[in-house]
Amino acid sequence: MTSPTRIVVVGGVAAGMSAASQARRRRPEAAVTVLERGSSISYGACGMPYNIEDPQRDLDDLIVLTPEKARDERGLDLRLRHLVTAVDLDRGEVVAVDEDGGTEVRIPFDGLVLATGARAVRPPGIDGLDLAGVHFLRDLEDGRHLKQDLDDRVRRAVVVGGGYIGMEMAHVLTSRGLGVTVVEREPEILPGWGPEAVAEVRSELTAHEVEVMAGSALQYLKGDADGRVATVVTDAGSIEADLVVIAVGIRPEVSLAKAAGLRLGESGAIWVDQQQQTSHPAVWAAGDCAEAFHRILRKPAWIPLGTTANKQGRIAGANVVGGRSRFAGIVGTAGFMVFDLEVARSGLGVAAAAEAGFEPISTTIRQRSRAHGYPGGTPVQVTLVADRHTGLLLGAEIVGKDGAALRINPVATALASHLTVADLQQLDMVYAPPFASVWDPLLVAANQLSKKVERTG
Ligand SMILES: Cc1cc2nc3c(=O)[nH]c(=O)nc-3n(C[C@H](O)[C@H](O)[C@H](O)COP(=O)(O)OP(=O)(O)OC[C@H]3O[C@@H](n4cnc5c(N)ncnc54)[C@H](O)[C@@H]3O)c2cc1C
Repeated sequence: MTSPTRIVVVGGVAAGMSAASQARRRRPEAAVTVLERGSSISYGACGMPYNIEDPQRDLDDLIVLTPEKARDERGLDLRLRHLVTAVDLDRGEVVAVDEDGGTEVRIPFDGLVLATGARAVRPPGIDGLDLAGVHFLRDLEDGRHLKQDLDDRVRRAVVVGGGYIGMEMAHVLTSRGLGVTVVEREPEILPGWGPEAVAEVRSELTAHEVEVMAGSALQYLKGDADGRVATVVTDAGSIEADLVVIAVGIRPEVSLAKAAGLRLGESGAIWVDQQQQTSHPAVWAAGDCAEAFHRILRKPAWIPLGTTANKQGRIAGANVVGGRSRFAGIVGTAGFMVFDLEVARSGLGVAAAAEAGFEPISTTIRQRSRAHGYPGGTPVQVTLVADRHTGLLLGAEIVGKDGAALRINPVATALASHLTVADLQQLDMVYAPPFASVWDPLLVAANQLSKKVERTG
């Protein structure tokens, strides 16, 4: 079999550009074509909320690689504003529409990487989503529109969706001087997070005068005479708003994969093996459009994050040119900031652990971030989850200030290594008064939780 030489990548952000760059690096003679329907590539969407917070910063600061550099320095055949409309697996071609020229092009491939990402959910059956002042936040253009819209006339905002992007935006819009209400359909914000972490986030929101309407479903949006949003109507009442951010989740962008007959996983994202290969031998997939192997659940999961997109993209890029790289998988590490509070998690919460067949035990402790007597310490809250019978560590949530979120990284390492609570108790973690107590908060939590482990066998 000859090695593939014509590589096509669909999607030019985290996964797509990682794949394309890696393919060229591994095989400089390969012709790598990247088709991106938008006008920007390789930007850090994760930085958008923080960028929007600062009116002085240019949104383009988030662009890591310009199209010119991608072409000149990485040797990629980058085609912007090219919407791929079909993948013809029998002929080994993708069909794309050049949205500027209005022409259709067919591009043959030996190896194809789908890095089509995800799209923001438009809540179904809701009138008013197209009014001026209503924003989604997914790509750089969304960020640009939202930032441009934040002028002096805008005083009140509603954020629909109390997930992590909703929290970040509640913070950002408050910092920009707006009065903010968060509307969440579920009984509590941050669905899937433990009640202890949620309570901390709630108090932080209250301290900054963000109103939360949990258990309230969006019904419709009403506009003013100029066609700009004016009122958000929920089943629990109406809220005046001149800016609305809809952050009710995302779905994997799998339309091309589905139409081409590629296998989708249980989550609805593209099924891939640990080499990022799809159910078709000439097609790889990476990033938010694809599943990833979950190292605790030991099965595929869909947890769309930039960290995973970059790693999977790099692996897909290596393998599409004949490599045999393997993605070890994820443990579900994620974090965000809301005002001064850092919030991070890794692994499974109690409910998810029970659903996965474990018998979870948990503990929550609060401990100062710095040694007793050292100035500037703040409380760090740690919730640890483990299996009652084996003591296997299953997850953690950490909330606090002063670098608290980074304390999740040893947990991520422990989870990936399948450590037990007893192993965690013995970890040789750094101690010096400016950044920890002699008993780090994680060790204190492990000591606490070890008392609940009932070893059997
Ligand atoms: C506001 C916000 C904050 C975030 N914060 C974090 C964070 O703190 N940490 C973290 O890890 N992750 C975060 N994320 C998630 C992270 O940005 C994504 O996981 C990452 O962008 C996924 O990269 P991707 O390349 O898989 O997909 P995408 O970024 O979605 O890129 C896919 C690209 O494919 C293109 N495309 C799709 N279909 C076609 C087609 N048919 N033809 C041509 N082009 C196509 C799209 O235009 C898009 O540009 C955040 C995301 C957002 C929106």
